[in-house]
Amino acid sequence: MLTHEQLTAVFAEWDRRADAGGWEGNARVPEESARVFNEIAIALFPALGPARVKLGDIRPGDRIELDGGFDCIAAGIVDVHSDEGGLYFDCRQGRHALARQEDEPGAPLVGVISHTPHGAAS
Ligand SMILES: [Zn+2]
Repeated sequence: MLTHEQLTAVFAEWDRRADAGGWEGNARVPEESARVFNEIAIALFPALGPARVKLGDIRPGDRIELDGGFDCIAAGIVDVHSDEGGLYFDCRQGRHALARQEDEPGAPLVGVISHTPHGAAS
């Protein structure tokens, strides 16, 4: 849900882009205008986009939601544990280190779509 200020900013950017020309599609078509709206909203306010969960935000006992891109575990919510190797979740091959999902240190974890801290209502 966008705040009034965010909505105003999105439509201001929409007008700016319309004035600049060069729409990829026709923003007067409903499906296309929804796509344009989302693209602008996420460009202006990245927090509105898909969750970008980082390793440093996760603690043992937290829960994370995995997408369907793993061949060792189905999509869904898993508990995070830790051992001497760091944070991991259980998968069909054993302990799946969360660090394996980092493209580079500090980057959002690949395949992790949400994070619920331990004790938080889910
Ligand atoms: Zn695994």
